[in-house]
Amino acid sequence: PERGRRVLEVRGLTRRFGGLVANQDIDLDLHAGEILAVIGPNGAGKSTLFNQLSCVDTPTAGTVRFLGQDVRGWAPRRLAAAGLSRTFQHVKLLPAMSALDNVALGAHLRGRAGLLRSALHLERSEESSLLAEARHQLERVGLAHLADQPAGSLALGQQRLLEIARALCTDPAVLLLDEPAAGLRHQEKQALAALLADLRTQGMAVLLVEHDMDFVMGLADRVACIVFGRKVADGQPAAVQADPQVQAAYLGA
Ligand code: ADP
Ligand code: MG
Repeated sequence: PERGRRVLEVRGLTRRFGGLVANQDIDLDLHAGEILAVIGPNGAGKSTLFNQLSCVDTPTAGTVRFLGQDVRGWAPRRLAAAGLSRTFQHVKLLPAMSALDNVALGAHLRGRAGLLRSALHLERSEESSLLAEARHQLERVGLAHLADQPAGSLALGQQRLLEIARALCTDPAVLLLDEPAAGLRHQEKQALAALLADLRTQGMAVLLVEHDMDFVMGLADRVACIVFGRKVADGQPAAVQADPQVQAAYLGA
């Protein structure tokens, strides 16, 4: 999608778990070429929101539109094939498999084309094109030199980049990242921030959920803050950081 075009439109999103309201009446927009950070204290409802955006979970009320289409009831894989990729809060890699094979497997499972055919049997030519694609994505995230290392032997920051490489294989218009900086060292955070800025330059829309406010301040174009399931602020990072409701939520956390 061309830069500035709205790629995600969330309206009145509500998710209840029994009597607990995890998300309440959330409106949110995401545009091509934008990095949006959703922040909030632990338990605020960020992962719940994220799960609904990626169709892992279904809203109690409200709508999520991706590229203009209402995605209610879609399987996560259908959404991935349509151009929305996500990573998880906890790294999900096959530790004994090489970095390259982890990406290739992701490309295979998320493949846009020939999913059914390739699930039945993988042609040799398809396998080599998957590996070529995986190599390309490893280069994109700066891990090409570690292609043959077991994924489990990489540092946490590298594993996060590896997961992003895997998510990039479907050439997504939207990339959703759940706490990508959690547990990373300073240099690893910088490498991650540089990659995300690079993806933005390429016109991707990036939505990251992040507990660490410092990480998003220099990076995000816009910040939305969720507290007790409600969006309390949405705007320029500095303005959101200075918002009294946001400050109270973080001081109280
Ligand atoms: P965050 O990601 O901001 O830390 P979550 O979205 O994980 O917050 O959780 C928001 C609230 O919803 C929490 O009170 C959590 O316990 C609750 N919650 C999340 N998922 C479920 C679930 N599947 N069943 C019941 N309660 C849930
Ligand atoms: Mg969470």
